[in-house]
Amino acid sequence: MARKKIIAGNWKMNMTPSEAVKLVEELKPLVATEDADVVFCVPAIDIIPAMEAAKGSNIEIGAENMYFEEKGAFTGEISPAMLTDVGVKYVVLGHSERREYFAETSETVNKKMLKAFEHGLTPIMCCGETLEQREQGVTMDFIRQQVKVGFLNVTAAQAAISVIAYEPIWAIGTGKTATTAQAQEVCKAIRECIAEIYDEATAAAIRIQYGGSVNAATAPELFVQPDIDGGLVGGAALKPDFGKIVNWK
Ligand code: PEP
Repeated sequence: MARKKIIAGNWKMNMTPSEAVKLVEELKPLVATEDADVVFCVPAIDIIPAMEAAKGSNIEIGAENMYFEEKGAFTGEISPAMLTDVGVKYVVLGHSERREYFAETSETVNKKMLKAFEHGLTPIMCCGETLEQREQGVTMDFIRQQVKVGFLNVTAAQAAISVIAYEPIWAIGTGKTATTAQAQEVCKAIRECIAEIYDEATAAAIRIQYGGSVNAATAPELFVQPDIDGGLVGGAALKPDFGKIVNWK
């Protein structure tokens, strides 16, 4: 069965709750489609107002992060139950900014993956290499390790419904998109890695996004690639351009 595309916006630390409502209202008619799942991953405080604003549309509101414990003395963190209680289905885990600035490791990402599944949340697990790693020729070794550790003890059924976002760090927020060939090559290799860990059916089912300076001009070329099942979009997700990315065909 053909994989449905998933196009997700990552708002990062942008938009106050009132700005979030305005942006959802503005984008709602522009992102209407049945061809792709459309997810806005927003700051925790924007989740409820964004959800209210998105009511009756095809937009799913997702989270940008969550903690791996159920509840308790973890000041400042958001639990999976807090997300599901308000109807969140998707959560971004292991974004490179969280790995870089908040000491996330593949091990903590794995704990979050397992906890997300326990609560019926679908993770969008990010992976991607630095420019130095690409230049040293270790891109795939590094990403395979991120995927292997991230999916430790994740079942095949859980993996099949997961989303992986391949985001070369050098392409995030820099305006430098990976070439279509580079993006397809890595997404294909990630799918092969999933086939090795699980089986061909799981690899055929899992959705793999490309992320890194995707815009309305680059989306069509990227999304037509056989192993690219949509995108994780930062900067362009805050603009009407996002409508063009979602309706890229
Ligand atoms: C991201 O935040 O995941 C991202 C890919 O950002 P940008 O599209 O701005 O590069």
